[in-house]
Amino acid sequence: MRYSVKLNLETFGALLRINAPMIQQFTFSYRSIPSIQDLTEQDQALAKAAHAALSRAYAPYSRFQVGASVLLQSGLVIEGNNQENIAYPSGLCAERVALFYAGANHPNDPILKICIVAEGDLMPQGALLSPCGSCRQVMLESEARQANAIEVLLVQRSGDVLVLPSVQNLLPFGFTK
Ligand SMILES: [Zn+2]
Repeated sequence: MRYSVKLNLETFGALLRINAPMIQQFTFSYRSIPSIQDLTEQDQALAKAAHAALSRAYAPYSRFQVGASVLLQSGLVIEGNNQENIAYPSGLCAERVALFYAGANHPNDPILKICIVAEGDLMPQGALLSPCGSCRQVMLESEARQANAIEVLLVQRSGDVLVLPSVQNLLPFGFTK
């Protein structure tokens, strides 16, 4: 038995398209502000609150103090810091302390911004300071719940502040409903 398969150009082209890799790109724009003093007054106050929260962090194990401040639509600012425990996984990051407090006490007050600062030797000088994966996931769901973007301000130890328009920028393929 002999079989012959005829592929016309159109079919062949379709096959090629199926097999050709689809290159996708994910890009986003963010602002890099030279220093806290160059932020708006409101953002400066938010960064100040995050620093104040940092000073109250309980981080005897990592010696890496993190402060987070969350600005709600009502103008209320919620502060959080990392709370560690000798049973390491029992502790919690500053971002989640602040976000869970906001969710627990002000569930209907949308979150406009979150500002994060850190101090300590856990990361080398010059390393980019940004939230851990678990915090990104929680931040992403906070954003999804309110269906409004949360601006993220990351205060670097060099002094500059990275301002990202949305949590989605930090977790493009996040686990969502
Ligand atoms: Zn975290």
